[in-house]
Amino acid sequence: MGMMIKKCRVYLDYAAATPTDPQVVAAAQPFLTEKFYNPSALYLAGRELRRHLDEARHSIAQVFGCGRGEVVFTAGATEANNLAIQGIMKRFPDSEVAISAVEHESVLAAAKLFRYRLIPVDEKGVVGVKEVEKAIRSKTILVSIMLVNNEVGSVQPLREIARLVKAERAKRRSVGNELPIYLHTDAAQAGNYFDLHVDRLGVDLLTINGGKLYGFKQTGALYVRASLNLQPLILGGGQEAGLRSGTENVAGAVGLAVALSLAQQKKTEEAKRLTTLRDLFIDQVLEKIPDTRLNGPKTRRSPNNAHFTFAGCDNERLLMELDEVGIECATGSACNASSELPSHVLAAMGMNEAEAPSSIRFTLGRSTTESDIRYTVTQLTSLLSVKR
Ligand code: PLP
Repeated sequence: MGMMIKKCRVYLDYAAATPTDPQVVAAAQPFLTEKFYNPSALYLAGRELRRHLDEARHSIAQVFGCGRGEVVFTAGATEANNLAIQGIMKRFPDSEVAISAVEHESVLAAAKLFRYRLIPVDEKGVVGVKEVEKAIRSKTILVSIMLVNNEVGSVQPLREIARLVKAERAKRRSVGNELPIYLHTDAAQAGNYFDLHVDRLGVDLLTINGGKLYGFKQTGALYVRASLNLQPLILGGGQEAGLRSGTENVAGAVGLAVALSLAQQKKTEEAKRLTTLRDLFIDQVLEKIPDTRLNGPKTRRSPNNAHFTFAGCDNERLLMELDEVGIECATGSACNASSELPSHVLAAMGMNEAEAPSSIRFTLGRSTTESDIRYTVTQLTSLLSVKR
């Protein structure tokens, strides 16, 4: 096979990874070079590093609307989700956790270590508030519902769920049930487009991820409400208030703070711009390609997500053919990409086994233009006009 010449490169997999913003790289750079010190060192240079780490924490706390002592740096969202779920459940081993059926694998796998209840979603991948109500039992200590689904882009009714959890708390007090109940949200796919203020959302724990915010992979944070007492996953020197031992990644923390504040500054404008592009994409695909279905909600979805089933098509083949014409997208979530298992998200939405392998995800981002969308529609139309 000769060298492939790509006329165009259209990246449409921003839910899997975002390119690093040059401002994030610039902010982190000194901490990868001359400012290499251990932030626990007591001499002046070490204390200076501690100050930078604190400033990064403060900047993230401002976005969350919380105290800086409530932000724990982690190596990504997988770790933050595990710390949230295992951290609570290990303190209350006789209790139960309730999670939605469309959570990321890191939430699912952590919940499965304990007594857990799966909350069903509708055919659009949205959790019903009534279903959450049914899942909350007298022994439920934790409810974990993502803000935005990484596969089909459904936005969950988190504020309503928070009101329900609050009502349950009040009910328990009135009947003398002393078991607390907490709400966690995995906001890994939400920070570019949605408000992450923890009190407006009504959450006690919240996960973010630098790798989806135009920051670095293996950086992330967990918001932990001050009244909570989590059991750490990683033991050692007691950094991060004992919740996450190990010499702090100052470059990563500074990069995360810059990435998050940039993302939040841009969120309203980006959400508007991408919603227009996304809807153009969805409308054109549905109009030009027969036997196509949009998965997930029409409007209650992430501004950057379009997910289709093209009846009879082999999604892996289509993905490779799109790659040959310069278009990069995904068959599902990147985390499932290497497994043969059909997506648990599509299954939870009631999709049958024959349709899941004909489904494909496109996620837009900061560099996506209208011409990228038009080019993708043209290529998809031509590739799918031949027999499937
Ligand atoms: N949660 C959600 C919703 C995600 O989309 C991802 C990444 O794909 C994660 C958690 C895990 O992030 P990471 O692999 O960076 O730890």
